Amino acid sequence: MSATQTLVCLRTVGQDNPASLATYLKLGGYAQLQKLVTEKVKATEIISQVKLSGLRGRGGAGFPTGLKWSFMPRYFDGTKYLVCNTDEGEPGTFKDRDIIRYNPHQLIEGMAIAAYTLGARVGYNYIHGEIWQDYEIFEAALEEARAAGFLGENLFGTGFSFDLYAVHGYGAYICGEETALIESIEGKKGQPRFKPPFPASYGVFGKPTNVNNTESYTSIPWIMEHGGQAFQELGVANSGGSKIFSISGHVDKPGNYEVNMGIPFAELLALAGGVWKGRQLKAVIPGGPSTAVLPAAAIIGATMDYDGLSKAGSSLGAGSMIVMDETTCMVKTLKRLSYFFFEESCGQCTPCREGTGWLYRVIKRIVDGQGRLEDLDLLTDVSSNISGRTICALGDAAATPVLSFIKHFRPEFEYYIRHGRSMVEDGLAAQSQ
Ligand code: NAD
Ligand code: SF4
Repeated sequence: MSATQTLVCLRTVGQDNPASLATYLKLGGYAQLQKLVTEKVKATEIISQVKLSGLRGRGGAGFPTGLKWSFMPRYFDGTKYLVCNTDEGEPGTFKDRDIIRYNPHQLIEGMAIAAYTLGARVGYNYIHGEIWQDYEIFEAALEEARAAGFLGENLFGTGFSFDLYAVHGYGAYICGEETALIESIEGKKGQPRFKPPFPASYGVFGKPTNVNNTESYTSIPWIMEHGGQAFQELGVANSGGSKIFSISGHVDKPGNYEVNMGIPFAELLALAGGVWKGRQLKAVIPGGPSTAVLPAAAIIGATMDYDGLSKAGSSLGAGSMIVMDETTCMVKTLKRLSYFFFEESCGQCTPCREGTGWLYRVIKRIVDGQGRLEDLDLLTDVSSNISGRTICALGDAAATPVLSFIKHFRPEFEYYIRHGRSMVEDGLAAQSQ
C-alpha cells in the first residue's frame, strides 16, 4: 500500500485561493486563537500541550518546542519578541516557502498563539531574500489578518495585543542562523553571536525572544485543535507529528510531501515517484547538505524520523531529502556542496573562514585532475579541525558532507585522483560503447 500525505501545515493546498483568509476561515482558521485568548487559557496549559505533542524544531536542530517555550521568562518589565525563521537557504530546502505561499494564515495564527502564550508584544517573520513573490503573499495575508482583527491592538476586546511584521532578508544563508537573523532584524550585518546567551534571555534588541521555524509555528493551531497527544500519535516515539519533506534530485515527482513522522524511506521515495528513468538509487542526503550522505544500502530500510535516521548514520535536519541515482559522480557533487559552504561562510571565525576555503580548493584540485592521494587525509583532517571549533553550526555543516562523502565513497575519490577522471563517467562511457 502506498503512503498518503497528512496535511497539517499544508492543509490549504488543493483549495481555491489557498492563501486567502476566506479559505483559511472556511477550514476553521483562527478559531483556536480566539478560543485561547477569550477563554484566557493559562500559558502553562498551552505549553504542556505543546510538550505533549512531541513537536521538535523543524528548522533542522530538532530542539523540543515546548521546552524552548518554557525558557521564555514569564515576567519581564519590557517588550518580549517573537521571531519566525523563514530564511531556509540550504540547497534542497524549500518547505517554508510553500507554507507562506499556500497557508500563510496558519503561520500567523500559530505565531499569535505563541505570542499570547509567551507574552510577546511584537513579532517578525524573517523571509529568505530570494522569494519575493512569496514575501508579497505573506504581506497580503498580514494585511487581511490585521483588517479582520486577528492582529493588532486589543484582540477580541481582551486587552491582548500582538503586532506582526514581515522582514525581507537578502539571500545570505547565514542569516538563517537564529542569532545572525536577529542581528539582521536589528539592522546590523547578519553575523552569528556567541550562544549562550540564547535568544530566550537575550534576543531582538537584547530582549527575551522566542525563535522558531515556520513549520514549527504552523503546527501549533492543529495541536491546539486536536490536542498534543493526537499530534504525537501522528508520528512515532521521540518524533511527534507530521513533517514536510522537500524531495529533490533524481526522482520523478520532486516537491514537498507532508507525511507522518516515521514513514519508511522506501514509501516516501515511492510517493515522490521513485528514482527517475528506471535507474538505481545510489545515495541520499536525508535532511539537507548539513546532514551526512547515506549510501542506498544504509537508507533503504530506514524510517524518516529523528531516531530512525540517527540509527542509519545521519539526521533528519530540515527534511530536505536529495536523491542521487547511479549516474551521480560523488566527487563533483561534493565540490558543488563545498563551494556553497565556502561562499556562505560569514568569515567571522578562522576555522570556518579558512577551512571552508581549504576544503573547496582541495576538492576542486581533485576534480581538475591535480589531486594527490594524501588529499583525502588532508580533507578529513581539515574537516575534523573545523567541527566544534566555531561560533555557529555552519562550520560543522561544512565538515559533514566532506567527512561522510569520503567515508562512504572513498574508492570513487581514489579513482578520480589516480586517473584524473570520474569513475562513474568512465563506467557510463564504457556502457555506452
Ligand atoms: P542549536 O542546537 O544550537 O539550537 C537549537 C535551538 O534550541 C535554538 O533555537 C537555540 O536557541 C535553542 N537552545 C538550544 N539549547 C538551549 C539552551 N540551553 N537554552 C535555551 N535555548 C536553547 O542549533 P542551531 O545552531 O540553532 O541550528 C543548527 C541547525 O540548523 C542544524 O542542525 C541544521 O540542520 C539546521 N539548518 C537549517 C537550515 C535551513 O535552511 N533550514 C540551514 C542551515 C542549518
Ligand atoms: Fe561565520 Fe562560519 Fe563562524 Fe558561523 S562558523 S560564525 S558562518 S565564520
